Amino acid sequence: MTKRSIKDLDISGKRVLIRVDFNVPIDNGKVTDDTRIRAALPTIEYARGQGATVLLASHLGRPKGKVCDDMTLGPVANHLSSLMGVPVLFASNCIGGEAKAALDKAVPGGVVLLENLRFHEEEEKNETGFSKALASLADVYVNDAFGTAHRAHASTEGIISHVHSAGAGLLVSLELEYLGNLLDKPARPLVAIIGGAKVSGKLEVIKNLLKSVDTLLIGGAMAYTFFKRRGLPVGQSLVEQNLLKETELIEELASKHNVRLLLPTDHIVTKTIDAKATHELLTINDPSIVDRIGVDIGPKTSSMYADIVQAAETVVWNGPMGVFEIDVFSKGTLALAKAMAVTTATTIVGGGDSIAAISKAGVTNEITHISTGGGASLEFLGGRSLPGIAALPDK
Ligand code: AMP
Repeated sequence: MTKRSIKDLDISGKRVLIRVDFNVPIDNGKVTDDTRIRAALPTIEYARGQGATVLLASHLGRPKGKVCDDMTLGPVANHLSSLMGVPVLFASNCIGGEAKAALDKAVPGGVVLLENLRFHEEEEKNETGFSKALASLADVYVNDAFGTAHRAHASTEGIISHVHSAGAGLLVSLELEYLGNLLDKPARPLVAIIGGAKVSGKLEVIKNLLKSVDTLLIGGAMAYTFFKRRGLPVGQSLVEQNLLKETELIEELASKHNVRLLLPTDHIVTKTIDAKATHELLTINDPSIVDRIGVDIGPKTSSMYADIVQAAETVVWNGPMGVFEIDVFSKGTLALAKAMAVTTATTIVGGGDSIAAISKAGVTNEITHISTGGGASLEFLGGRSLPGIAALPDK
């Protein structure tokens, strides 16, 4: 980890603005999933423990520069207060008099949550005046919102050049450590499992991972574009016709880098993607698929993938192995989640669906690192620089 972290900064008695990701679902004024809030607690508690006054800034939803009552962070302030067992002051505007007044009331160790950053259109436009207004509230800036680090916004990138000192929060540091190690110095064998709907959504990631992995396991609908290119029967399965050539390039790249690229050998097929539809197990080369859709990997594939996960030293997984939202088609994805739980390898899981599958399988605590930033982790693994991270000073 080459970026300065909050632990490298002198924050005692200082005002520390922490950019967090409190973009959480709210229903009827209540937070319905507080995973992201809990994920920020270590950094907040660390700053409080150092005697800093903590100022939290986040976006919520897409208010597009307008004040929207249903996207206020007010309910999050209440929720955070009950989680931490301390009062959380809420400022009804993230800049200006309201923010300053709330800060003036806060004592060292106290916590202030600013209103939704995206109530100002200047946030997403990365406008300098807005960055300066945010920066003027604090002595130190800390970025702990990995999920928005791939966006160059005022609160993630612009602000950094206007504060005295800046660093990564504990959550961002962890993400950089795990995802960075994966690309730079992984314990081998390194296995990547990529699934989900489309090759197109994960093209950059696949290509970049081929430079570092030993084995790449493909699952989900994206396997069918590979099968089609190989001339195998795909029936009505999801195929990206315009990416046939690209899958050929991926296979060439894999052999150039000596990567073992594996596709499913059996699958579950159905006429309609519906829990009540009859389904059948076929081998991948069975031509009787005709009018049916491949919706999950079969047991032979599951056990082959599980064996590879078992023998690995590092495994990264992004994307489900099938239409896991429907129980009957979730077996392959859940089997993989369980394999990830029992292996002694370092396991890293990213992407909302894979995280949901891990949670459905009840093995969240068995995974080494759950990457919170969906888009940001894909861009990072795709080899892109994340503006909100790149702008942070080095150690
Ligand atoms: P992604 O966002 O690209 O990771 O795709 C996730 C979605 O892919 C999930 O909603 C799955 O239901 C869907 N998916 C996975 N496998 C298949 C498949 N064989 N056919 C259709 N959809 C699939």
